[in-house]
Amino acid sequence: MPTPDPRRLANQIALVTGASSGIGVAVAVALAAHGASVVVNYGHDEEGAKATVATIEAAGGTALAIKADVSKEDEVQAMFKQTIERFGTVHIVVANAGLQVDAKFVDMTLAQWQKVIDVNLTGQFLCLREGAREFIRRGEQPEISRATGKLICMSSVHEVIPWAGHVNYAASKGGIMQLMKSTAQELAPHKIRVNSIAPGAIATPINLSARDTPEEEKALLTLIPYNRVGDPADIGNLAAWLASDEADYITGQTIFMDGGMTLYPGFADNG
Ligand code: NAD
Repeated sequence: MPTPDPRRLANQIALVTGASSGIGVAVAVALAAHGASVVVNYGHDEEGAKATVATIEAAGGTALAIKADVSKEDEVQAMFKQTIERFGTVHIVVANAGLQVDAKFVDMTLAQWQKVIDVNLTGQFLCLREGAREFIRRGEQPEISRATGKLICMSSVHEVIPWAGHVNYAASKGGIMQLMKSTAQELAPHKIRVNSIAPGAIATPINLSARDTPEEEKALLTLIPYNRVGDPADIGNLAAWLASDEADYITGQTIFMDGGMTLYPGFADNG
C-alpha cells in the first residue's frame, strides 16, 4: 500500500460525522494520515469515537472526539463552535453519518421515514451549512489549500439505484444528490468545493445482515462485477484525495466507488 503523503492535507482541520464506526473511521484515519487534524464526531458510541482518536494519535496525528446528533441543529452548531474554539477553523467537512430503518413500503411508519430523512438528509444539510458558514467567515487561505473549503457528502449507489424495502434510505440519498449539486453551484464563487462519494457495498456494520452467511455474501457479489465487497479504507483513500488540491477542479460531482455495482450487472450476459 502506498505511504500516505502527510503534506497533502497539512495544516488543515477536518470534521467527520459518524466517525465512531465503519466508513467514518476509515475516512477520519485517512485524513489524519494525510496530515489533517480531525474532529471525530459520534452520535452515541463514545467508545468507538475514543478508539478512532486513539488510532489517529498512535500514528502521530491529532484528533478530538465530539458528541453531536447530526439531526439536531443546536448540537451541530455546538459541535462546530467547539471545533473552532479548539482548532481555529475547519477546512474539510465529511458528512458521513447515516443509518437505515428498513420496512416494506406499505408498512413503513411515518417515524421510520422521518428518522432516516432527519439523520441522512437533514443531518447533511446542517453540517454542510455550518461548514460553509465557517469557510466564508474565515475566507481564503491559499497557503493551506487552493479551495476555501471542501464539503464531502457520503451518499450511496442508492442515489441512483432504486431500493425496494428501503424507500426512506433511497429517498434520503437521492435527496443528497441535489443537496450536493445545488450547494456546489451556489458556493463555487466562494471557492468552496462540494462533492459526494457514493459507495457500493462496503464491509461495515450497516450491511452486516446482508453478508452474515456465505450464501448472502455470494448473492451480494452477483451485484458487484469487480467481485469483492469494498473495504472502508477504499473510501477513506478517496476522501483524502477528494479533499486535497489534487482534486481542486472537481466540484458538484458524485464519485461512485462501487466495484461496478452501477454498471447494471444483470445485463452482463443478458443483452
Ligand atoms: P455504520 O453504521 O458503521 O456507521 C454509521 C455511523 O453514523 C455510526 O458511527 C453511527 O453512530 C453514526 N450515526 C448514526 N446516526 C447518527 C446521528 N444522528 N448523529 C451522529 N452520528 C450518527 O455504517 P457505514 O457503512 O460506515 O455508513 C457510513 C455512511 O456510508 C452512511 O451515510 C451510509 O449510508 C453510507 N454508505 C454505506 C455503505 C456500505 O455499504 N457500508 C454503502 C453506501 C453508503
